[in-house]
Amino acid sequence: MSQESVIVFTIFYALLCFCIVYPSTEFESAGLTVDHIFSSRLGSESISFVQYHIRRTSLNLMVHSLLPLMYIRVYFMQFASEANPDSYSTVMVTWKILIAAVVLLPTLVATAIYYWSRNNWQNHPVAKHLTKFATSRTRFVDWQAVATSINDEYRRDDKVVIRMNPISRIVATESWVIKTGPYWINVAHQDDTTMIAYKSDTHEVSQEAFETVQFVNIAVRPIREEIKEFSIRINALDFKELQDRLSHPITILSSVKFHRSVLDRFVDVFMDQVSQNPIYRLDSDVVMENLDSCFACMQTQPNIKIEKHCLDVDGNGEPLPQARCCQVCNCRPMWCIECVAKWFASRQNQSERDSWLQQKCTCPMCRARFCILDVCYIEGMRRGVNS
Ligand SMILES: [Zn+2]
Ligand SMILES: [Zn+2]
Ligand SMILES: [Zn+2]
Repeated sequence: MSQESVIVFTIFYALLCFCIVYPSTEFESAGLTVDHIFSSRLGSESISFVQYHIRRTSLNLMVHSLLPLMYIRVYFMQFASEANPDSYSTVMVTWKILIAAVVLLPTLVATAIYYWSRNNWQNHPVAKHLTKFATSRTRFVDWQAVATSINDEYRRDDKVVIRMNPISRIVATESWVIKTGPYWINVAHQDDTTMIAYKSDTHEVSQEAFETVQFVNIAVRPIREEIKEFSIRINALDFKELQDRLSHPITILSSVKFHRSVLDRFVDVFMDQVSQNPIYRLDSDVVMENLDSCFACMQTQPNIKIEKHCLDVDGNGEPLPQARCCQVCNCRPMWCIECVAKWFASRQNQSERDSWLQQKCTCPMCRARFCILDVCYIEGMRRGVNS
C-alpha cells in the first residue's frame, strides 16, 4: 500500500467522523444519525424528555470515543504489513502509546457510563445538575421530581422548540428553558433566570436578493450561583416565538439591533396610523365569538373594519375626482391589522415606498377603494400597538 492510500483513507475517515459528530441535514433526513440508529434503546423523547437526553448524551459520548479506536483498527488491518518490523523503533513506541490511548478512552467512558447508570441514573451529571433545583424553596424533593416537571411540560403542545444547529436545540416550556447539546443539557428555571440578548450578527444569504439572516446571542443567567450560565444563539426570526413562551421579558442590550424587513417596518407605521383613526363599534347582534379567524393568516381574530372616514381630498385639501374617491365597504370584519397592512403594501408600486401611506388600495373582497384613514380598529380588539 502506498502513502497516498493512507492519506485518502485518513481523509475519508475524518469526513465520516465529522458527519457522525455533526450530522448535516441530509444525514438527518436519511436517518443516519446516532440518535436515530439507536432510537429503540433511547426511549421516547416526548414521554420522558430528561431520561431520553441522559441516555442520548451518554450514547454520543460512547460512540464518539470509539471513533479513534476504529481508525487505528482499520489502519492496522489495511496497512500493518507496511509498518516497520523493528518493534523497538521510536515509530513503534509512538504507535504503542497511541494504541493504549485510543483503547483507554472508550474504556474510561464505558466505566463512567456504567457508574452513572446505577440506581436509575442518579449519579449522572445531568441528574446531579437537576438536584440543584430541588431546594427548600421549590416544591421538588429530588432530581426525579424536577425531571418529572420538565417531562410533563415538554409533553404539552404549548412548548417552543428552536433548532440552533444540527446538534443543539432550545426548548422552552411553561417554566423551563433547556438547551440540548451532544454531550450535555443545560437547564434553567424561568422564575430564577434572567435572559439577556447581548450580541447580534448578520450574514448574507444570497447577494442577488439582498437577503440576510440575523442571529441573536442570548445569555441565560440563573440568579442562583450554583447553576451555571449558558448562552443560546437563535435566528432573529425565532426571537419573538421564544419571547412569547417566556414568563419574563428578555433584556435586549442597546448594542443589539434587530434588522427588520421593509415590509415589517411598513406594518409598524401602518398600525401606528390606524391607531389614531376612529374606533369601530360592532353592532350588538354581532358577538365577538362569531368572528372567524382572519381570512389571510388564520391565526388571529379579525380586529379591523374598513369604514369610510376620509374626506376624499388630496394633500392640498382639494377635492379628489370621483374616480379616486374612497368607497363604502360593507364587508364584515374579516382581516387582522397585519394582514391588511401587508395586503395594502402588496398593492403599491414597489419603487415608490415613500408614498405608500398616501396611496389607496381595494378591499380584498368587495374591491371598494379605501385609504389608510378608512381602516378602523374594532372596539376592544386593538392589540399589538405600543400605546
Ligand atoms: Zn391576519
Ligand atoms: Zn369590502
Ligand atoms: Zn379613504
